[in-house]
Amino acid sequence: MKLDSMYQEIILDHYRNPHGKGLRAGDAEVHHVNPTCGDEITLRVRLEGATVADVSYESQGCSISQASASVLNDLVVGKSVGDAQAVQEAFLELMQSKGQGEGDEEVLEDAVAFAGVSKYPARVKCALLSWMAWKDATAKALAEQPAIND
Ligand code: ZN
Repeated sequence: MKLDSMYQEIILDHYRNPHGKGLRAGDAEVHHVNPTCGDEITLRVRLEGATVADVSYESQGCSISQASASVLNDLVVGKSVGDAQAVQEAFLELMQSKGQGEGDEEVLEDAVAFAGVSKYPARVKCALLSWMAWKDATAKALAEQPAIND
C-alpha cells in the first residue's frame, strides 16, 4: 500500500499517540471485529443531551484501524450528534470513493489522510471499523435516552 507521505505521517502519528484511548463511562458499548484483518474494538459513547460528550475505546489491530479510532475521537467528541453523524457520513463516502475522493478538509480534518486507503478494499474495512462501531453505539445510546430531542 502506497500513501502520500504526509498522509502516512498523520496516520502513523495517530497510531503511535492515539487520542482518547481507554474505556471510560458510557451510555452504550459495542464490540466490533474486522475478521479480514483481525482488528477489534470495544467502544463506548457517552451523550449529554444531544452532544457527544465522550467516545472511549480499547482496540487492537493494524495501524490503519488504530489511527482511525484516534481520528474518530478527535472529530466527534464535543459535536452535536447530528454534526458528528454528518462527519461520519462524509468519511464513509470518502472510504467508498475507490481512490477518487479527496475529502473536505474543513469537515474531515485529519481523516482526509485516509483518502488513499480507499483504493484498497481490504483496508477500507480497517479504516471504517471504529466509525461503524461509533455509529452503532450512538444509535444504542440514543435509543436509551428519554425522548428529549424531538
Ligand atoms: Zn486492519
